[in-house]
Amino acid sequence: MSNTSSEKNPSKKIYNPFQIEKKWQETWKVNNLYKTNENSNKEKFYALSMFPYPSGNLHMGHVRNYVITDLVARYQKLKGKNVLHPMGWDAFGLPAENAAIERGIDPNKWTRDNINHMKNQLKLLGLSVDWEKEFATCDKSYYIWTQKLFLDLFNSGLVYQKESEVNWDPIDNTVLANEQVDSEGKSWRSGALVEKKQLKQWYLKITDYAEELINDLKVLESWPERVKIMQENWVGKSTGANITFKIKGKKDNLVVFTTRPDTIYGVTYLAISSNHKLTKFLTDTDLKEKLNSLKKDIQKSKYIDQEKFGFDTGLKAINPINNSEIPIWIATYVLDGYGTGSVMGVPAHDQRDFEFAKKNKIKIKQVISKTKDGEEEILEKSFEENGFMINSKQYSGLLNSEAKKEIIKIGTDNLWAEKKIEYRLRDWLISRQRYWGCPIPIIFCKKCGSVPIDKNDLPVVLPNNLSFEPNKINSLKDDNEWLNVKCPKCGSTAKRETDTMDTFMCSSWYFLRYPCSNLNDKPFDKEKINKWLPVDQYVGGVEHAILHLLYARFLTKALRDRNLFSIDEPFKKLLTQGMVQAAAYKNPKTGKYVSPKVIKNLEIPVDPQDNTKLEITYEKMSKSKYNGIDPETVIEKYGADTARMFILFKAPPEKDLEWGDSDVEGQYRFLSRIWKLYLENDKEELSKKDNYKEQKELNLKRDLNIAIKEISKDINNNQFNTGISELMKLYNSISQNKNFISMNLRNEVLKNFCILLSPFAPHITEEIWQVLGYKDSVHNQRWPEIDIKALVQESYELVIQINGKVRDKVFIKSNSTDEEIKEISINRENVKKWVANKTVKKFIIIKGKIINLVV
Ligand SMILES: [Zn+2]
Repeated sequence: MSNTSSEKNPSKKIYNPFQIEKKWQETWKVNNLYKTNENSNKEKFYALSMFPYPSGNLHMGHVRNYVITDLVARYQKLKGKNVLHPMGWDAFGLPAENAAIERGIDPNKWTRDNINHMKNQLKLLGLSVDWEKEFATCDKSYYIWTQKLFLDLFNSGLVYQKESEVNWDPIDNTVLANEQVDSEGKSWRSGALVEKKQLKQWYLKITDYAEELINDLKVLESWPERVKIMQENWVGKSTGANITFKIKGKKDNLVVFTTRPDTIYGVTYLAISSNHKLTKFLTDTDLKEKLNSLKKDIQKSKYIDQEKFGFDTGLKAINPINNSEIPIWIATYVLDGYGTGSVMGVPAHDQRDFEFAKKNKIKIKQVISKTKDGEEEILEKSFEENGFMINSKQYSGLLNSEAKKEIIKIGTDNLWAEKKIEYRLRDWLISRQRYWGCPIPIIFCKKCGSVPIDKNDLPVVLPNNLSFEPNKINSLKDDNEWLNVKCPKCGSTAKRETDTMDTFMCSSWYFLRYPCSNLNDKPFDKEKINKWLPVDQYVGGVEHAILHLLYARFLTKALRDRNLFSIDEPFKKLLTQGMVQAAAYKNPKTGKYVSPKVIKNLEIPVDPQDNTKLEITYEKMSKSKYNGIDPETVIEKYGADTARMFILFKAPPEKDLEWGDSDVEGQYRFLSRIWKLYLENDKEELSKKDNYKEQKELNLKRDLNIAIKEISKDINNNQFNTGISELMKLYNSISQNKNFISMNLRNEVLKNFCILLSPFAPHITEEIWQVLGYKDSVHNQRWPEIDIKALVQESYELVIQINGKVRDKVFIKSNSTDEEIKEISINRENVKKWVANKTVKKFIIIKGKIINLVV
């Protein structure tokens, strides 16, 4: 492209973001502008984005996440805080390993290449990140500390190994934590229907913290309500009782946890899981066969959708309240682990029990009714609400909540009931049967069992140069040199643990590492953690509401209890940003998406294949819907500042955002106008003077202070979109008034406008800051203070219309009455001229703006 115009015009009249942005990104780097100040006495502010998984390419969702955090970090720095704004990589995990196997390369190489590429893409955004703090969780210098923390927890009893029924992902060939299985029983990552397997696995005792994890949600005032509700439900606290049922003809008892002891007269069966210890009594061949086939089906997860399978064991339990005999069933819906692996079947008052009873023709007995002295009725579904007791001997007529207390009491006195709190939360399964993860620092010895590795022998390094081939699940098992070691305790031959840790283990403490990422003799420094934590603003996707955010809270509390620091919660304020969506074109006949590249007219889109009119919907950007937009392309075309402004302006951060090219162009035009405003800013005071110079100056000062006030409020409330609207208003006011005001005021307003805009658009503001003649960076300035006096509006410009046409303008006092406004208007020379010889029929006054004289 020929560049003659810009050569002739060194004054850079045209906004060229490409040049400006590259230049300033280099300068900031050279000057270490965003380096964290470790020795500052200023109040700290820790701004953090959930760190990215190095998948290969930056997408718009990343851009939105990091731009929001960057805006907050820059604003807090301008407000005089000492800011820590780091970035790193959540680098272990299955996708890297799968991609490596597909390509026959080392996952480490694949991951490192992706990190390099994505880091370069990230830098295009002009983020105020302190890159000296960067690390990847697959760095030896990081995972040595993941292993050390694992051993600390192991030594204090929070890590244990247990054989139990686990979730098995048949596509990724690994176990999954309960948090990684969705409500349909599918793997969160591969989408495979999860199978059940009996395996020995490593667990973290998150259940020890169930109560605190619920209680401390109250402290998290600046977290989205929905995230707190999701966590509360996941931990799932319920108050009830353990009830002991005797087994007829046996010495064994069956203990059942129930939240509804008030329904004990309505128990018509007990159900146990297929692994329950009572199944030892199934000696009859027929029953044994039934049990085995049920177990096989459960493994194949046949019952995920229809959980109502089971059979009668023939065993009878005795109801302790009235000594009636109750059949004991095996049911697929009874989970091992929850409560005691058994359920008190009350079909009349629990929908799942109701469906099981209906299917298996078990008696249904109603014991609670809507009305006092109600009658038993034929139920269409279970009655789960509160009400009055019926069919319950001396408790009949009572409110069921009252009966619950009395039944627990009588059961406690007679030793068949015990008040109990249960949680839905299970311990966190952290071992994975895959190579690309942090090695678990344990050695198995035939004599000594599981032996932790001495901390001086850490890290257990992942061996490299293994072969990665399809159908090979875990290459660690083949590496004899790595695998076969001496037992640290007795010296006999032993084997390393070949399972690695869930990547969520690596990410549940990474925010503690940033303040100390240069330390090489410990994971973190107590004083530094107490100084920098909790994170003041955390930004990330809501998909981590339960997974990462729950694990991180747990680990923080567990490490606090090992006396490693004194904070209780890791993240003070949480923002979960919405998705970035774009128009997708779908053929309603075929259900297929059509690429916009092949559509002739996007206004009236038609499928070129069959001429069907296409449906336009806004959906999350994805390759399969042909609606992905590459951040790099957008930055190349419009610049990072425009991309940032668009993303912040288009929607409030927590709402989904719809991509629109015209809105992107709108932001580009806005920045171009700002560019012009500063570049054409004459150094000399204009000779053109307005009669109302003083009034215009007061008004402009007022507009400036309104903007300072509103933008500060908007950023504090995460309303970045309205913050930009305020910037637009102030821009309009400046460009309308700048030629009528004093040079001093003009410089002051231009200076402050530049600072107000700088956290949103850091490059253009740095450039115009230099144009104004300042030497230091705009990003090192102080956010302007509000001048309360300037906010008071003492006067305004009244527009005088005659029959709807503007004939005059005059500044009047803000507190003028209607009578005074009329008086002033009709005595204006201009008005007199137009009204001469006519009568004014009507005055229409719009307070603070206009008077219209109808003649
Ligand atoms: Zn040993």
